Order: sequence, then C-alpha cells, then structure tokens
Amino acid sequence: MLSTKGYAAMTAKSLLQPFSFERRDIGPNDVLIDITHCGICHSDIHQARNEWGGSLFPMVPGHEIVGTAARVGSAVRKFKAGDRVGVGCFVDSCRTCAACREGIEQYCEAGMLLTYSGRDKNGHLTQGGYSTQIVVDENYVLRIPPTLSAAGAAPLLCAGITTYSPLRHWGVGKYHKLAVVGLGGLGHMAVKIASAMGTEIVVLSTSERKRKDAEQLGATDFGITSDPKTFMRLQRRFDYILDTVSALHDYNTYINLLKTDGTMILVGVPDKPTPLEPFPLILHRRRIAGSVIGGIHETQEMLDFCAGHMIESDVEVIPIQQVNEAYERVLRGDVRFRFVIDLASLK
Ligand code: NAP
Ligand code: ZN
Ligand code: ZN
Repeated sequence: MLSTKGYAAMTAKSLLQPFSFERRDIGPNDVLIDITHCGICHSDIHQARNEWGGSLFPMVPGHEIVGTAARVGSAVRKFKAGDRVGVGCFVDSCRTCAACREGIEQYCEAGMLLTYSGRDKNGHLTQGGYSTQIVVDENYVLRIPPTLSAAGAAPLLCAGITTYSPLRHWGVGKYHKLAVVGLGGLGHMAVKIASAMGTEIVVLSTSERKRKDAEQLGATDFGITSDPKTFMRLQRRFDYILDTVSALHDYNTYINLLKTDGTMILVGVPDKPTPLEPFPLILHRRRIAGSVIGGIHETQEMLDFCAGHMIESDVEVIPIQQVNEAYERVLRGDVRFRFVIDLASLK
C-alpha cells in the first residue's frame, strides 16, 4: 500500500482537515500519478456536505486532477513515467454494458466508480485529488496536451467536459443561439467552449458584476435574472439553454426563453427539486434534458479541442490550507472562475 497525504471531510458537518490514508499498490494496468493540481468543483462541496445524500466518509474530495505519471504497471501501454496526465470524475466502470462498450461510461448501467465517495470492487473507499498521489487504471487516465498549463487544465476534467459533452451531443454550433445560466466554474467553460464552436451566447446571471467578464469570455449579450425585463426581452430567443446553477431556482421562467423545439439542458444539480409547469413545454414543443460529465474518449477529445483553441480555465491557485475558505468563497460566488489547489503545498 502507498501511504498518501490528503485533506478530508470526516463528516458532513466537519471542515476539511489533514488526513493520511493508503492507496492500493499499482497493479499491471495501473498508473501511479503524482498530483500537482486539483480543481475545486461545486460538486465537491455538495458531496462533502452530503447535500445530495449517499456521501461516504471520510471523504477526500477532488475530481479535476492533473499530475505526472510517476510509475506505470507492467501491462500499461498508453502512458509512461514522466507523462502529464489527468483524472476526472470516475476511475472505473463495468466495461461490458452497452454504455461502456459505446464509450459513454458515465452512463454505465452498473454505475461508474466515482473518483471519490465510491466503493471499488474490493470494497475500498475511493479517495479524490485533494491529495499527493492517486493510482488509476490506465483506461480511465487522460493525456494532458503539452500546451495547456497544469492549473488551467485541471478544471477541464470536470467543468470542461460537463459543458463540452452536451454541446457536442446536441450539435450546438454556428447557427444556434445559446443561453448559459450561471457564470461560475461550469458556466465560464461553457462560454469559452461554445464560443470556440461559433455559437452566439447570452449569459444569464444573478451577478451584475460579471457582465464584463461574460463579454470578455465570448458572450454577445448578458441578462440579469433578478430583473423581469430580462425575461420579457429574451422570450423565445434560444435554441438551447445550458443551466449550470448550483442552487434552487425556477426552471419555468427559463423555458419561456426557448424557441419552438428548443431544449433546456440541466447540468447544475441543486439539492432540492423544483416544480415544472407543463404549458410552457407543451405549447412550443420544448424539451428539458440533463447531462452528466462525459466518457473517457470524449474527455480526451475535449482536452485536445481546448488545446487546439487555446482554451484553459480561468483559475485562482491556492495552497490546500485555504480549502475551507475557498469553499465559502465559492458559495458566495467570489471566484473567477475556479479555485485550483497546488498540491506542492501538501508535500
Ligand atoms: P459554481 O462555480 O459555484 O457556479 C454556480 C453558479 O450558479 C454561480 O456562479 C452563480 O452564477 C449561479 N448561482 C449560484 N447560486 C445561485 C442562486 N441561488 N440562484 C441563481 N444562480 C445561482 O459551481 P460549478 O462548479 O460551476 O457547478 C455548478 C453546478 O453543476 C453544481 O450544482 C455542481 O454540482 C453541478 N455539476 C454537475 C455536473 C454534471 O455532470 N452534470 C458536473 C459538475 C458540476 P451567477 O453569479 O452568474 O448567477
Ligand atoms: Zn465536478
Ligand atoms: Zn458499464
């Protein structure tokens, strides 16, 4: 076993604190990764506080992991020691169901094995990237293109793929108008990626102070969601809405912004449900849909797409000792646009 240092939530009510634990020894198909950077996703906060239920403790969060392959198992073919690599939200899946065979392992019928707060086939708790090292089967490891910085690439492993995948799946492109709701970690990646796809983007936000940022990121228009005039002005304007909001809000008001046959795609996961009114959907044959991260092949495609378009996440790099304060700042919307932990602070 490999003794590892990390930061963990011991219960849903406790702050994250230093925590020592063991990683499995590397098997023939495994890559041992020295973690250099890990993004802080809002899902880390939801899960560390058990806001969705089912969290497993002690929990070392973190699923936006970038590092260097330190050692590889004897059967590993895709990576060698010294390669810059990444790990996203899951580290295994059944590999045999229709979804796994199709390369959409995030929809594995047996359930993907989450990078943390999961239990592997030996019954061991998985632990995430707020730590010095991780051991992952090579089939669930990504290659980080050399032109991307480690800190700027880390959030691509969740925020990047979570927004790229639905944009690709629904074929959002040049001839579409897209509203991105919420300009946080996911939202700012959605704007950058959709903008590179040639889409016309409007950001809908609760924060007037993000207007300039939205334009700089690639949006052509901006609307404040506390102002009812925004919803009058933008009625039936969009082919797609990508909703990245982390807190409870009323979906119905946004559905009215879709054209006939428009689709509202949920990626944000508030901890409480909200009622849906049928008429706004029925009268214009609109759809509401959801999407979770992306498969391994598509995540690699997204990383290469971002490298090709010189897209990185806008990050604020922090030492791990500031993680609890960073959580509070994420909840206040006080980050442009992703915190990334520099794991050198833990060594
Ligand atoms: P984040 O950085 O905190 O961004 C969320 C944004 O939502 C905020 O910046 C804010 O944008 C808006 N917001 C927050 N509270 C709000 C409220 N009460 N009403 C309206 N808007 C509000 O979080 P994130 O990391 O981007 O994650 C966003 C959500 O996606 C989380 O629920 C996370 O768990 C989920 N997620 C889902 C997937 C998936 O695969 N589907 C993957 C990763 C994360 P403005 O200031 O612009 O209003
Ligand atoms: Zn995430
Ligand atoms: Zn499967």
